[in-house]
Amino acid sequence: MAADVDVLALFADALKNEEFLVYYQPKVSLRNYRLAGAEALVRWKHGDSFIFPDQFIPQLEQSGDICELDFYMLDHVCASLRHWLDQGHHLFKVSVNLSRAHLRDENLVDRIVQTIDNHNVPHEYIEIELTETTTDVGFAELRKVISGLHAQMISTSVDDFGMGYSSMNLIRELPWDVLKIDKCFLPKSENDHRQYVMLKHIISLAQDIGLDTIVEGVETIEHVKMLKENNCFLAQGYFFDKPLPIEEFEKRLD
Ligand code: C2E
Ligand code: CA
Ligand code: CA
Repeated sequence: MAADVDVLALFADALKNEEFLVYYQPKVSLRNYRLAGAEALVRWKHGDSFIFPDQFIPQLEQSGDICELDFYMLDHVCASLRHWLDQGHHLFKVSVNLSRAHLRDENLVDRIVQTIDNHNVPHEYIEIELTETTTDVGFAELRKVISGLHAQMISTSVDDFGMGYSSMNLIRELPWDVLKIDKCFLPKSENDHRQYVMLKHIISLAQDIGLDTIVEGVETIEHVKMLKENNCFLAQGYFFDKPLPIEEFEKRLD
């Protein structure tokens, strides 16, 4: 079974054989309930079974191989974006996850730009999600990357905001475009007053300093109601869609 897979031994061949698939989870506008973006999420199809990210990403992060996988994902996303643009679809940003392991790469921004430009995709269609959950802050490296992407008109979002050691400094100091609020901020019940107040003020703080906001892990109609009440009009979660294989996702494009 998947859990027994020796990730590091199989990785190089799996990458070469394109066993890694790009799934797309829709981001939905809460103004008109239409598709307003998507997040690319990796799935590993090994033989007949699927291996989910939590079973291989941590090991790839430790070995550093995650960097190759992230560029493989970005490359595949750009190829699809070019294809969809050529077909005349009405498009939006697609976000790609980037592990923090990349921050050690001096040429990271150039490599990202080159990958996007290789496919002749306008930069405005790409968003890079970076988590804020790790403690090895490396603030100088992070600043260089976020500012570099900003200068190239490539959007960046603070992923999993609220899950780790959220630092206001991180948000105040760097030119992020989007605050992606983790599902842990969604109240568990109507009486969860403390959580509701925090969610409300985080959304309004982010928006007041010019960041777009999205909440992920939206699973219920109550969540949707709560976000609209608090002026957050972008959502991602099982209430709308699970991450979809590309053939399914393409059916949603206008
Ligand atoms: P993430 O970036 O926070 O991605 C969101 C995760 O939440 C996805 O899990 C998604 O399937 C799941 N999710 C979406 N909607 C809901 C919901 O309504 N409720 C709940 N409970 N979960 C929901 P997934 O695809 O298993 O990915 C897990 C993590 O693996 C991602 O978390 C991300 O950190 C990492 N990951 C996935 N693909 C990549 C990749 O290409 N590169 C890197 N570096 N990391 C990746
Ligand atoms: Ca993400
Ligand atoms: Ca996330």
